[in-house]
Amino acid sequence: MDDEFSFIRSIVPKQVYQSRTKIGIGDDAAVYASDPTQDEVVCVDTMVEGVHFRKDTLTPFQIGRKVLAINVSDLAAMGATPLFYLVTLAVPTDWTEEELAELYRGMTSLANHLKMDLIGGDTVSIPNTLVITITAIGSVTKNKSLVRSDAQVGDIVFVTGPLGGSAAGFELLNERTKDGAFSELEATFVKMHQQPEPQVEISKQLAKLEKRIALNDISDGLSSESMEIAQASGVQLVLNEAQIFSISPQILSVSRAKRVEWSLNGGEDFQLVGTIAADEFHAAKSAAKEIGRELFQVGTVRQGEPAVFITSPDGEAKIEMSGYNHFKRG
Ligand code: ADP
Ligand code: MG
Repeated sequence: MDDEFSFIRSIVPKQVYQSRTKIGIGDDAAVYASDPTQDEVVCVDTMVEGVHFRKDTLTPFQIGRKVLAINVSDLAAMGATPLFYLVTLAVPTDWTEEELAELYRGMTSLANHLKMDLIGGDTVSIPNTLVITITAIGSVTKNKSLVRSDAQVGDIVFVTGPLGGSAAGFELLNERTKDGAFSELEATFVKMHQQPEPQVEISKQLAKLEKRIALNDISDGLSSESMEIAQASGVQLVLNEAQIFSISPQILSVSRAKRVEWSLNGGEDFQLVGTIAADEFHAAKSAAKEIGRELFQVGTVRQGEPAVFITSPDGEAKIEMSGYNHFKRG
């Protein structure tokens, strides 16, 4: 990057969506007005080149969009409406200005859709790999955030959409790279990996119900996200393989073991997993239907030491946690 100042000028949003935004990019810090009816919700996530993405599986546009999507997914998992974001970039010399512009075009494509304002960030240089961190800010009606610790015995476990598609897509991309040829079906999975859709609208529908709903987003895989709910709530989640299979990738040539692995541990689907009282599931399904969406039951909640089980024609098995651990040594 030749000139940091002209770069920053080039990324100033052309449009401000949020009436609460008072000062965006250009001063020492951003300023936005508070809203006494709301709780503020904030999260941050980082993607590192070579660890979380590679240029041969994602375009710069898709990388930018995906980092924002990951953060928005965390806001959605709290029942929050996304409002603002800030971007920290550590830029190596092999990233061109055009690629950086694409990175921002990717973020902007999602931000415009969600009416989020980019209100600041920081730019530094780094020797080898691009590091991008996004801080996202949203809001939720006071005391109405949807937390992991709200699951109770007798609840239904549900998800908001297909599981395992992103992992299937990632495997195809690893085989053939983003420039490879894909069948129409394969391309749908590749797209799930490259262009995940954070579940903002359905999360807002669930929050609007004002019911007790435990909620988590599926970034690391259904098993580990279910375990987080189990631990936070002090309950057991019993997942049902047939129900999960009915919404997992229908790639005929793939073995049952692989479909189980993808849909349970694949991760990066960015659907939501939640629990709700059995007699309120119908109301939640109706709320989803109002926006043309469905909720899918994938299990139940029962009493016991926090754990996750899966039932299949072979019986019931405890799921040992093998989800991604950032600090695991090889
Ligand atoms: P300061 O030295 O006061 O921190 P900077 O030169 O770092 O100012 O940033 C100037 C303005 O540009 C600030 O509003 C900052 O938030 C914004 N900014 C800097 N880098 C980025 C970036 N990568 N993405 C978005 N906004 C940025
Ligand atoms: Mg600065």
